[in-house]
Amino acid sequence: MPPVDRGPQPVNLPTDWAPDSWRTRPAAQMPSWPDAGALAEALAELRRLPPLVTSWEILALKRQLAEAQEGRRFLLQGGDCAESFADCESGLISNRLKVLLQMSLVLVHGLRLPVVRVGRFAGQYAKPRSADSETRDGVTLPSYRGDFINAPEFSEAARIPDPRRMIKGHARSAMTMNFVRALIDGGFADLHHPEYWDLGWVTHSPLAEEYQRMVAAIGDAVRFMETLSGEEVHNLNRVDFYTSHEALLLPYEEALTRQVPRQWGWFNLSTHFPWIGMRTAAVDGAHVEYLRGVRNPVAVKIGPAVTPDVLLRLIDALNPDDEPGRLTLIHRMGAAQIAERLPPLLDAVRREGRRVLWVCDPMHGNTESASNGYKTRRFGNIRSELEQAFDLHAAAGTRLGGVHLELTGENVTECTGGARELTDADLERAYRSSVDPRLNYEQSLEIAMLIVRKRAQ
Ligand code: PEP
Ligand code: MN
Repeated sequence: MPPVDRGPQPVNLPTDWAPDSWRTRPAAQMPSWPDAGALAEALAELRRLPPLVTSWEILALKRQLAEAQEGRRFLLQGGDCAESFADCESGLISNRLKVLLQMSLVLVHGLRLPVVRVGRFAGQYAKPRSADSETRDGVTLPSYRGDFINAPEFSEAARIPDPRRMIKGHARSAMTMNFVRALIDGGFADLHHPEYWDLGWVTHSPLAEEYQRMVAAIGDAVRFMETLSGEEVHNLNRVDFYTSHEALLLPYEEALTRQVPRQWGWFNLSTHFPWIGMRTAAVDGAHVEYLRGVRNPVAVKIGPAVTPDVLLRLIDALNPDDEPGRLTLIHRMGAAQIAERLPPLLDAVRREGRRVLWVCDPMHGNTESASNGYKTRRFGNIRSELEQAFDLHAAAGTRLGGVHLELTGENVTECTGGARELTDADLERAYRSSVDPRLNYEQSLEIAMLIVRKRAQ
């Protein structure tokens, strides 16, 4: 066979990398599967299964992220802290899509910028944990690490890591993607029909009026354009939607890392946009080693312990050639620490002239225990971190180009505060998350409106 013409090589690809070279580095947060044979079998099966995304989509997203780096787009990335196999159902998936579409409508309208829409779904099944085990009433069991690995119930059987769960997670991810793609291709995201995204229970929301005013204004603008041109504006009935998850479970990610005909290098085809979590972002660690070699756009969570020196080493490892759209830095400092921790990082990256997309995750630095023991986040702190982030970037001469949020389209009570002023006592009413507390529909929309108001200042 003649060699396939791949055209000129677009970037310098690392020559000392392979999909399994991470195995030579210390890998934090890995489960220990009890049966090596069963693990090898599951991974062999995964390697044969079809990928979940394509290299074209991945490269298209990278171009959109490059535009966001230039200030010509805004990134909206959101979804559950952890997906669960049980929650792979149509209503939950479409409600989450509705919230993200409504938020992006608010952002597009208010910021006058196209939005890059990235779901935190279709593969968000592995979780880092602060402790390897958990003790309840004198019984100690391995921690729950996400549905890819074990089950949340507190029993010995549920907590033993089972490699077949990766196969099930791959299938659930494919079902989620399939449904999202079909909805979008079928016209669900059509700007002519924003009523498709209404969530039944929110007609009495304190925010409904402001949102409906915005929808009416957009409807008028669309009709005006169509009257002018004498025809329907067709590119309003489709949007791009991309997927992301934390690339934590490296054996799974490795099995979905593929070469593609007519493309250079390797792609992680389990998601468009993998990220490295705060607990696995060691420069010499396995997760950075793995992600430095794939051609996807990648992100890293940046916590309060990261120094300017470490950050610059991370940038060197993950984007040595400053490729546009390649690297996103998601800072998650907490409302109390961001003013102290973020500016030295912004200064260092600006001084060195490195090309990154800065994104704020106002959730993970603001997790606390409520008076009644629930893990929660206060809307006031989430809001404060986000507002400070805009101000700190403006002061440093850098640009906040997106947000990363944990949210759901359901009427949950997991974060306190917001337009309905949820209190600690409300948490027990509808607390459903098995991991981190999420913004509910109204709180999510409120964040989108707040971003618009803040950027207008
Ligand atoms: C997460 O995104 O759910 C998470 C664990 O975040 P971080 O790595 O920033 O703590
Ligand atoms: Mn989380």
